[in-house]
Amino acid sequence: MIVTGVPVSGGTAVGRLVVVGAHVPADVDVDDRPGSASTVEDLIALLVAAVDTSRAEITAIAAEARERLGDESAAIIELQLLVLDDPEWWNPILDQVRSGSEPSAAVWSVTSAVAEVLGSLEDPYLRERAADVLDVGQRVADRLAGRSRRGALRGLSGDVVLAAYELSPTDTLDLDLDVVRGIVTETGARTSHAAILARQLGIPAVVGATGLLEAVAAGSLVVLDGDAGTCEINPEQHVVDRARTKAAGAAPRAVIDHPVTTRDGLKIRVLANASSVADVERAVAYGADGIGLYRTEFLFMGSPELPDEDAQAEHYAAVAEAACGRPVTFRTLDVGGDKPVPGLHVEAEENPFLGVRGIRLTLANRPVFDAQLRALARTAAAYPGVSVMIPMVSGLEELDEVREVLREVAPGSTFRLGAMVEVPSAALLVDEFAREVDFLSVGTNDLTAYLLAADRGNLHLQHLYSEFHPAVLRALDQIRRGAADTPVSICGELAGDPRASGLLIGLGYRRLSVSGPLVPAVKDRVRRLDSGAATAATDTVLRARRHRDVEAALQVLLDLQA
Ligand code: PEP
Ligand code: MG
Repeated sequence: MIVTGVPVSGGTAVGRLVVVGAHVPADVDVDDRPGSASTVEDLIALLVAAVDTSRAEITAIAAEARERLGDESAAIIELQLLVLDDPEWWNPILDQVRSGSEPSAAVWSVTSAVAEVLGSLEDPYLRERAADVLDVGQRVADRLAGRSRRGALRGLSGDVVLAAYELSPTDTLDLDLDVVRGIVTETGARTSHAAILARQLGIPAVVGATGLLEAVAAGSLVVLDGDAGTCEINPEQHVVDRARTKAAGAAPRAVIDHPVTTRDGLKIRVLANASSVADVERAVAYGADGIGLYRTEFLFMGSPELPDEDAQAEHYAAVAEAACGRPVTFRTLDVGGDKPVPGLHVEAEENPFLGVRGIRLTLANRPVFDAQLRALARTAAAYPGVSVMIPMVSGLEELDEVREVLREVAPGSTFRLGAMVEVPSAALLVDEFAREVDFLSVGTNDLTAYLLAADRGNLHLQHLYSEFHPAVLRALDQIRRGAADTPVSICGELAGDPRASGLLIGLGYRRLSVSGPLVPAVKDRVRRLDSGAATAATDTVLRARRHRDVEAALQVLLDLQA
């Protein structure tokens, strides 16, 4: 039997299926109370012990995340400790237990009520905290029921494919990478948190595999294909053997630690996308030629308050140091209603993806923008490979304003200034932009969404949301041509897609910025390609009028890079 979902992190995994946290919150069994506690004091003691253990677990996960992935990831986890220490959560639970409720029932009733209130608030940052509260409530309820989520995740052995209704960021960061070979979840989309982390960690993953948990028994042998988005349950032996060979072949990919050329000698730069110092270190270890996109918003999202100019300058210098002399392109703060930041108030919007995001938000919050530009100017003065890129630009006027701000707050700044091409108006005006900036970078994640009017995170629109749609491919062609001699890279997820390397080189792109762990595979494909053949095959792909015709035409390109 094969369950199909959305492929979010490539590769093949073979292992026994282990189900973690299979219950959705509403299914928590309130009679799960262990032991023989009967007095109110006993129940409160149980509750306090469950909270203390949960606190210790979260602290340990944060410490490991700090070591593995850096301060920003750890800070996201540590926000959950605030919930455990919040009297508005704790006191009503105590009251309910004192009035005769079971501890787990009390935890769930208060947790759900707090999450509901948070979820209905205007402030997007507080709205996001609803998920943290639910995650913490689940952890404490698990403890009360004698289950340990951490124990379930940590006590695994053999080759495991982890299945869950949903994996929270804490769960994803807590995985034992020595045994977990793949991840499959019932919920989620390509850009959900667990999906991004799986890609950063290089674990094959499929999300949105609806019906999986009902269809499959824990312990079944499964073959997970993170490229096709399938999870085959109890497959025939020859399927398992083939998948094992594929998984083993993929694991120790040789790192190619220098700029690669195609078979006919064309130099292609394979850069990495990063959001933390640890990401940059990993990217360097994977042989990235530089950082093509540093998402600065994670520094802002991971801090309890806005980082000031000095804190930012210190962080950006650490990023540049970690890049060991390789070029780094910092993107200015790209947040809005969808990516809230503590300390930065954003009005609730009907339509945050068409709202005050990216450059619109920073131009409207000058103290924040000024501090960031000053910090970046200081970094560029000390590290010559630093460039700065502006997100969500829709017209030349925004660039004029950025230049004016720069003249005012960081006169004499030495960095190269570039713009993202991710709003269709910028794609249509690309020749004009190209004359006014030092470089361009195409954000295919947002560009695809805006061109096709399909939300990139909406599971129900995944059949529409495709970077291989003929309209997106023609836009990429026009952008490349319109950019003329101005360097233009691709930094959306398409750049790392195994089906896209030949296509993008055929379109004329010479710089690809991808998730760090994907760098070796992309370099590997580039080396097998002949750029002349890729250009000829790409012309056929560009003539495709329907999505399915693109798929057929792509096969020629795939054969070229095989
Ligand atoms: C993009 O839109 O393709 C992009 C790289 O930016 P982000 O994914 O951070 O929006
Ligand atoms: Mg974007």
